[in-house]
Amino acid sequence: MTDRFAAPRPVPKPGILDIAPYKPGKAAAEGVVDPVKLSANENILGSSEKARAAYAEAAGQLNLYPAGRADILRGAIAEKYGLEPERLLFGCGSDEIFQLLNQTFLEPGDNMIQGAHGFAAYAIGARACQGIVKYAPEKDYRIDVDALLEQVDERTRLIFVANPANPTGTFIDADEVRRLHESLPASVVLVLDGAYAEFNTDPGYEDGLSLARNAENIVVTRTFSKIHGLAALRVGWSYMPTEMAAAVDRIRLPFNINIPAQLAAVASLHDDDFAARSVALVEQWRPWLTQQISGLGLDVVPSAANFVLVGFPAAPGKTAVDAEAFLASKGLLTRGVGNYGLPDHLRITIGLEQHNRAVVDGLAEFMSR
Ligand SMILES: *Cc1c(COP(=O)(O)O)cnc(C)c1O
Repeated sequence: MTDRFAAPRPVPKPGILDIAPYKPGKAAAEGVVDPVKLSANENILGSSEKARAAYAEAAGQLNLYPAGRADILRGAIAEKYGLEPERLLFGCGSDEIFQLLNQTFLEPGDNMIQGAHGFAAYAIGARACQGIVKYAPEKDYRIDVDALLEQVDERTRLIFVANPANPTGTFIDADEVRRLHESLPASVVLVLDGAYAEFNTDPGYEDGLSLARNAENIVVTRTFSKIHGLAALRVGWSYMPTEMAAAVDRIRLPFNINIPAQLAAVASLHDDDFAARSVALVEQWRPWLTQQISGLGLDVVPSAANFVLVGFPAAPGKTAVDAEAFLASKGLLTRGVGNYGLPDHLRITIGLEQHNRAVVDGLAEFMSR
C-alpha cells in the first residue's frame, strides 16, 4: 500500500483516479452555428409553460432555504402516483439518488451489478465507495436476467437496471422484472431506473411501482429531466421501503431540491397535456426513424425510449465515429457511445419532424458518399 501520509502532495484514495469522468452529450460542434442537440435525450419540446411560469414566480423566494424534505414536491408526487409520502426520496437529478444508494449500501470490496451497456452514473458512484462494478453480458443489446443473476455473490449489495435502458433503448417486460426480483437474495437492492418509463407504451411493460409497493428491496427511480423537460433543474425522485428511505435520507444533503425546481416540477406534474404531447411526438417518429434508417442498411435497435441506437459498419469512412462527425458538420449533434462498450453505434435523440428528416437525409448522404 502506498503511504499517502508521506506523499509530497494529497493523494486521492485508491480507485478515484481509475474512474473515467462522466461524458455529457456534446452541445457544440466546431464551425457550426446553432446546432440541433440530439445528444442528451432532452425534451425537444422544451418544458411545460406552467412549469416555466412557476419557475419565474419562484424568483420572489430566492432568499429562503427550501423545506428540507422537499415537502411541496413530496405531497404532489404522493398524490399523483398514489404513493406513501414517507417512502419517497428526492435527489439533485436521479443521479444523486444512485450516488446515495451506493453510499448507503457499498463498503469497500462489496459489489454492484449492471448490464454490459449500463448507464455510466451508477458505476461512478459505486467506484467512489471503493465498490466493485460487475457487468453482466446483454443479449441483443437487452438486459439478460439470467446473466445478471449469475453475477450475484455474497458481496453483492445492489443491481441497477434502467428500464427502458440507456443507451440501448431496450426494455425487459414485467414478467422478467418479477423473475429477477424473485430470484434475488432478500438482501440485494434492485434499483429500477425509470428515467424513460413514460415513453414505453408497450402493454407488456410496467414501471415497477406496483411491484415495489410490497417489496423490501426494490427502489424505483424517476426523473423530471426527460418527459417533463426539466433537465436543467435537476429533480429526481424515488420510491423505496420506509426503513431504506429513512437510512438513505441520513446522508442526503439537507436542501438538495431548490425552491424554483420544486415549484416547476409540481406545475409540470399538473400539465398532462405537455407530457402527452411529448410521448405522442416520440410515438409518431420512433417507428419512422427506425424504418427509414434501417432502409439505409444500418442496424437500428428497437427502442422504447425517446432516442434510437444505430449500428454502423466497421468499414473505414463508414464507422460510427465518421457518422458522428459527418452529422455534426450538418449541425446535428448525436452521441457516440464507445464508452458504453458500443464503439460501432450512435445514439440519436428523437427530434421534431424537421430534425428527424434532416437526420435521415444526412445518414443517406453519409452512406452513399
Ligand atoms: C437521463 C437519465 C437519467 C436521469 O438523470 P437525472 O440525473 O435525473 O437527470 C437516469 N437514468 C438514465 C439511464 C438516464 O438516461
